[in-house]
Amino acid sequence: MSEAQPGYCANHPGVATALRCNRCDKYICTRCAVLTPVGYRCKECVRSQQNVFFTAGPGEYLVSAIVSVVAGVLLGMGGSLLQLIPLFGIWLGIIGGPVAGRMAGDLIFRAAQRRRGRYLWLVAAGGLALGVLPFLAWALLTRDLWGIASVGLFGVLGVGAAVAWLRFGK
Ligand SMILES: [Zn+2]
Ligand SMILES: [Zn+2]
Repeated sequence: MSEAQPGYCANHPGVATALRCNRCDKYICTRCAVLTPVGYRCKECVRSQQNVFFTAGPGEYLVSAIVSVVAGVLLGMGGSLLQLIPLFGIWLGIIGGPVAGRMAGDLIFRAAQRRRGRYLWLVAAGGLALGVLPFLAWALLTRDLWGIASVGLFGVLGVGAAVAWLRFGK
């Protein structure tokens, strides 16, 4: 970083700064600077580099959304089946939810052609929730406590695990 000639931030003309983006060389203030493994960069440069990394297009998003809803329905069905074996089902939900969720996350990632998308995990979360919701709503409507417990546990843990894996796991 050249500290020699201070200038003014490219985004905030009133803010004096000695910091420069080490990619495009423009002045950035501490608010605009992003610390990356290779040094300080402006937000625009960080974003344009991420766009090279995130390659999922509308087609991948669409397929992922559809697969997410289907996976969500499967999670909901799984939860509903678990309530048939009340006490043991709860345990299976706690143990099996994250496992099923990871599988769902992997399925969604494959559906996206193994491409990464900035908002893929959001699409997955929405789709999965959409699939699980009817089962949870039904359990709530019928005041079925075991149903609420098993669908809730299996569904929520499953969706959580799928999204976590899509977001941080790969
Ligand atoms: Zn830059
Ligand atoms: Zn600034």
